[in-house]
Amino acid sequence: MIDPNCELCRQERRTEWHHSDDVCWIAECALCDTPMIILNWHREPTASEIEHMKVVSETYYPGYGWRNERLIPNHWHKHVLPVAVIHPAERYREE
Ligand SMILES: [Zn+2]
Ligand SMILES: [Zn+2]
Repeated sequence: MIDPNCELCRQERRTEWHHSDDVCWIAECALCDTPMIILNWHREPTASEIEHMKVVSETYYPGYGWRNERLIPNHWHKHVLPVAVIHPAERYREE
């Protein structure tokens, strides 16, 4: 589940990484200096991977929420931001 044309799959360390494990990593977004949580694979996460990423996100950024992405829709990743600054229409919600 890796797409060689996908910049997230290539995992180029162009910005600082705050965390990485066997499910996800957290890196600064090169465009807006905001942390992003990114799935290691080019697909949608499973329910247990979502749970894992919530724990990781909460560990580094307690009380923050996730903003849905527009630019790279095929590779699961979310900006991690204080809930108050995320537009309600862009806020991640569970299905
Ligand atoms: Zn990808
Ligand atoms: Zn960004």
